[in-house]
Amino acid sequence: MAVLHKEFTKYNKEIKLTTSRKEKLKASRKEIKKKIRNWFKDNKPDELQPKFHGQGSFEMNTTVNPIPVKDEEGNTLLKYDLDFGVYFIEKDEDDADNRQTIETWHNWVYNSVENHTDKKPIRKTTCIRVVFSDGHHIDLPIYYKLDDVIELAHKAKDWIKSDPKEFYEWFNDLKCGQLERIVKYIKGWKNFRELKNTNLKLPSGFELTILAANNYVEDENDDVAFRETVRKIDEELNKTNGFKCLRPTTPKDEDVFENYSDSRRNSFLSALGSLLNDLDRTKNEKIFKKASEILINNQFGERFPLGEDVNEEDKSKCLGMSIGSALISPKPYGS
Ligand SMILES: [Mg+2]
Repeated sequence: MAVLHKEFTKYNKEIKLTTSRKEKLKASRKEIKKKIRNWFKDNKPDELQPKFHGQGSFEMNTTVNPIPVKDEEGNTLLKYDLDFGVYFIEKDEDDADNRQTIETWHNWVYNSVENHTDKKPIRKTTCIRVVFSDGHHIDLPIYYKLDDVIELAHKAKDWIKSDPKEFYEWFNDLKCGQLERIVKYIKGWKNFRELKNTNLKLPSGFELTILAANNYVEDENDDVAFRETVRKIDEELNKTNGFKCLRPTTPKDEDVFENYSDSRRNSFLSALGSLLNDLDRTKNEKIFKKASEILINNQFGERFPLGEDVNEEDKSKCLGMSIGSALISPKPYGS
């Protein structure tokens, strides 16, 4: 059995954000904040000035570097996905009539960022998306806060209770570095699988984070922890009526898989089954190189490192010998 802990930790280094990348993305967020602020200052009264809050994987240390892709002109794109909440906070309950329609909020935020990049912003159901020429985008969901109730301006479902800060605090309170890595592994897997098969639409990073956290199996080795966590997710979801993913924070217990079509559900379950099957194959493979090739070819792509071309047994024998000889030596003046 080849233990791929070392390869998984190398993979983690490959996909996690470097400090400089993090700073660059933060700077981009800061710029957009300035832009929105200025627009509102110029166009709207004092009581309608927005506040801002980071949210999503960036706040949980689980953002992964996307696999670079090319656009039509051959430019390399890195499609980082950032979320940055725009908040309208009502200070006085009597002023609740400051609340605009969802359409109006969306239009205002759209107008405020319209010329921020040379690409037109995208109007999504739950946010305005600003796309940058290097491929990254910033999603701007809009929230209205009155007393302690925060609601998201959702163009299809109306105002819905939501609290993104509560979610990342829930995750960060688990304080588990290995779980952070497992979330990154599964997001790296999603990235590779969806690029290889453009018809495949796996669950969002947010949904995969909930699944990983709820089914996390700890182990001293990352390959075992990842494999057993995937096994638990697979078992949960394949149970009768088990295909659910319950939101742990406001709106608590909402099933975020509720609107999955049968075909989306089936293709996710089959991709997950194939991942588990390959992880089990690596467990039974004795040669590191061969074990890692299974994962490189089918599940993670070339960003996963190639293991050594040695047999697990030889390696432990070899290790045993060197420990053995270390125990016998030094004997410099022997016989
Ligand atoms: Mg997003």
